[in-house]
Amino acid sequence: MSEQPIDTCMEKIVSLCKRRGFVFQSSEIYGGFNGFWDYGPYGIALKRAVERQWWLYMVEKRNNVVGLDSSIICHPKVWKASGHVDRFGDIMCDCKKCKTRFRVDQMPDPTTCTNCGSKDLTPPREFNLMMKTYVGPVFDEDHIAYLRAETCQPIFLDFHSIRIATRMQLPFGIAQVGKAFRNEITPRMFTFRSREFSQMEMEFFCADEGSMEWFEYWRQERWNFYLNVLKFPVEKLHLHPHDKLAHYAKAAVDIEYEFPFGWGELEGIHHRGTWDMSQHQQFSEQDLQYLDQSNNTRYLPTVVETSVGLDRMVLAVLCNAYDEDRAPTQKEGMEDDVRVVLHFPATVAPVQVAFLPLSKKLNQNAQDLQEKFLGRYRTELDVTGNIGKRYRRQDEIGTPYCVTFDFDSLEDNAVTVRERDSMAQERIPIEGLRAYLDEKVLG
Ligand code: ATP
Repeated sequence: MSEQPIDTCMEKIVSLCKRRGFVFQSSEIYGGFNGFWDYGPYGIALKRAVERQWWLYMVEKRNNVVGLDSSIICHPKVWKASGHVDRFGDIMCDCKKCKTRFRVDQMPDPTTCTNCGSKDLTPPREFNLMMKTYVGPVFDEDHIAYLRAETCQPIFLDFHSIRIATRMQLPFGIAQVGKAFRNEITPRMFTFRSREFSQMEMEFFCADEGSMEWFEYWRQERWNFYLNVLKFPVEKLHLHPHDKLAHYAKAAVDIEYEFPFGWGELEGIHHRGTWDMSQHQQFSEQDLQYLDQSNNTRYLPTVVETSVGLDRMVLAVLCNAYDEDRAPTQKEGMEDDVRVVLHFPATVAPVQVAFLPLSKKLNQNAQDLQEKFLGRYRTELDVTGNIGKRYRRQDEIGTPYCVTFDFDSLEDNAVTVRERDSMAQERIPIEGLRAYLDEKVLG
């Protein structure tokens, strides 16, 4: 990406997202609602495609990981057992002078306001991040339930049902994608820290012996995903081992991405020992041990977890894709000037192939051609404005291929395919278009 001041770059991404209908504030006509976001048509196409890549990589391309879609609200005791009701919170303090609120663990000097330098701070207070609701007819303490704060807990609860139903034996993993809710005190940086977000988590159940090898394996796999599937440059990624480990954890590492506002956690890979299973065993009073038929022993499975926020991943994909280049677009009927372009990998681009008739008279021909590809790729028919403007519009939403149907197409049965990054144009016979695009788009 061209060098730009960070705020400007982030502001441009946020404004592009709104302008082109990727992501905008929830409840905007009421002034917005902090920490909640809506994905418009291109945003949801991008988000679904990113999720799809994760699911393919983590579940469908493996024999040892299966899927789950659990309820968002589960028995309130689950969150007691997991520790979320009693301990899941941030320690915050407020500056009495400028009224800024801080997470104490993120302040360089917890006695001094990071914003205005004042020493007049409120004492640190704990805020629980669980979102509450009531289930049943009476709104009292006995009917409190929680929106899940992470998607992994139901995976632990369903471990044995899934094991029995699938006849899976250790080691194997269970993956889930779904909404999580946290009453974040300071939602910020666009969708990076939201109050409602989607998580993609995989819990890998194994024997304790050999579990560190699985931890290393999954760390490497997740790292490879960012490089090979999302095509992030290696210098934008960074492994950050946790300085302080939870008492039950053997190892934990974050994969961080360099956002325009600085390095931020994308994903955590955690060795959680038998903590989760033993907590649920204790609170549910059920025997959750696994019978290992290979050596006839019973034990609680050890868990290695990979956990990432889908919205955060999508934000990283957007930041990584955003670019402005000085485009030699005279041949496309435009002046040479700054071209905004999203360099998405074709697999996740919201529109993979756009179909453009050169003239209004060819609209139907372009549409007929597009219809042959509906459901195969994510497509769009773009009929308004001169062709140069339409190419720019497609660049701005990251469409990797534009197929232009012109008057010659009526004679030679060929179309012009324009590639987003190089802006190179190639004449392709309509007969061979599917094979050509399959290779480029589907890989
Ligand atoms: P942080 O330190 O940023 O609050 P965390 O360590 O609490 O994150 P986890 O509980 O390990 O995060 O959650 C796993 C992943 O879920 C994170 O790596 C991140 O991608 C995503 N995530 C967590 N909280 C949020 C949020 N408020 N908004 C968006 N994504 C989130």
